[in-house]
Amino acid sequence: MPTRCKCYEMRPMLLKVLQFPDARLRQKAVAVEKHEVDESLRALAADMAETMYDEPGIGLAATQVGVAKRLIVMDLDWTEEGERRPRVLLNPELVLKEGKAVSEGEGCLSVPDFKADVERHERVVVRARTLDWEEVEFDATELESFCFQHEIDHLDGVLFIDRISKLKRELYVRRRKKQLRREQEEREPAGHADG
Ligand code: ZN
Repeated sequence: MPTRCKCYEMRPMLLKVLQFPDARLRQKAVAVEKHEVDESLRALAADMAETMYDEPGIGLAATQVGVAKRLIVMDLDWTEEGERRPRVLLNPELVLKEGKAVSEGEGCLSVPDFKADVERHERVVVRARTLDWEEVEFDATELESFCFQHEIDHLDGVLFIDRISKLKRELYVRRRKKQLRREQEEREPAGHADG
């Protein structure tokens, strides 16, 4: 008998990535407890990975899809040809931060049409749990280090535009507001109110 039960629909779904200035991007995510690692959390992680590849991006935090849990997915060197090995990490923590570096042209799926150089730590050591609750550690520099810092920031409600100069941020915020107003006007064409 064919079944339409949702339980059998295991194909990952694309999720909506929240966009600045959505207030949910400012939530501080809570740690995932061991007993919370179930099929629905695994499905969320799979959906997040699918969404990251689709956008496309190299990292995505649960905060960006409206889930305030400390869960990130990352894949720095995936290719269109199918080389996809998403890292799914729970409760990632920076246990060591060292040196200073600038990430060039950092961007974010939640901050449309904007890139900036951001001051970051040069090297970080990250401790996290996998979906199998194994403790893992990464010693990261360069892009990997910047990506970890960016995604962990998301879990704390911090965006990369919080880490650039006030002037640059304000210019972006103004441009973004204008863009949103334009989009709104396109959705609700003027002239509707003529008696
Ligand atoms: Zn981001």
